[in-house]
Amino acid sequence: LTHADVIDGKAFAASLRARIADVVPAFVTATGRAPGLAVVLVGDDPASAVYVGSKGKATLAAGMASFEHRLPATATQDEVEALLARLNADAAVDGILLQLPLPGHLDEQRAVATIDPGKDVDGLTPVSAGRLALGIAGMVPCTPYGCLLLLQDRLGDLSGKDAVVIGRSILVGKPMAALLLGANATVTIAHSRTKDLPDLVRRADIVVAAVGRPEMVKGDWIKPSAVVIDVGINRLPPADGAAKGRLVGDVDFAEVSAVASAITPVPGGVGPMTIACLLRNTLVAAHRRAGLADPE
Ligand code: NDP
Repeated sequence: LTHADVIDGKAFAASLRARIADVVPAFVTATGRAPGLAVVLVGDDPASAVYVGSKGKATLAAGMASFEHRLPATATQDEVEALLARLNADAAVDGILLQLPLPGHLDEQRAVATIDPGKDVDGLTPVSAGRLALGIAGMVPCTPYGCLLLLQDRLGDLSGKDAVVIGRSILVGKPMAALLLGANATVTIAHSRTKDLPDLVRRADIVVAAVGRPEMVKGDWIKPSAVVIDVGINRLPPADGAAKGRLVGDVDFAEVSAVASAITPVPGGVGPMTIACLLRNTLVAAHRRAGLADPE
């Protein structure tokens, strides 16, 4: 009994990746080299290794150059920063992505801050965050950027829409709110200390859930015309006999899809957009570094 349209992030991401791949040959002709993305993985967290692998594959599939750098879990802060400095200076590298989280003994913020803002395709340096807050051109974090593209595709102009972003992380919630504000939505940011969250969400035309709590957002929180973007990726405990539990979002899909006008599924919604936007940021960084106009 699904009423909401299910937003196909996988298909949207595939078309975005295809458009990116279409632009690459002209860049190669103009500059004599392919746009290059360097991904740095410190330690051997299995989930991070999977993400890094799929980023590398998608980069190559778009016709770009992929550089993968692995440091052992025992790497020192100086070693990580020295590698980032080398990549900053490397003319073949347009984008640098430091895969997070870093092993616990390392200072993430300090490491990220050493990335050249012109190559900061994850949009996480203080300079990128400052540019986003000021509303000037810079690199925007990939996941919220992907959410914005899905929302604009669905709704067109977001001017005057009431948006509630649940979550205020540096990676998702805060930049999401800044992007929606930049698109002239009226934005409320909710977090763990917010009072009467269901009532707040009930007023929203746009709901973005980035919390990390399985199926927290319920059907009776949602205004019938709302568009719901579910950023959460949570694995439930395995059902009897199964090796792995099911992946669910921060939104109760069964309940909310019976009320909302549109909703992103998990998986297949926001997730695929993140990598596509990483490629887009790399392409944009490459054009800016080469003194070319931003690609369309
Ligand atoms: P964080 O843990 O960094 O942030 C979670 C936010 O949710 C915090 O601001 C926290 O509030 C808030 N929060 C926690 N509990 C509640 C509550 N009960 N009510 C209201 N707000 C609450 O997570 P991220 O932003 O990094 O990620 C969020 C989710 O998105 C995760 O499931 C993650 O796996 C997923 N994700 C998916 C990506 C994708 O590509 N699709 C990319 C990145 C993340 P407070 O600040 O007060 O603690």
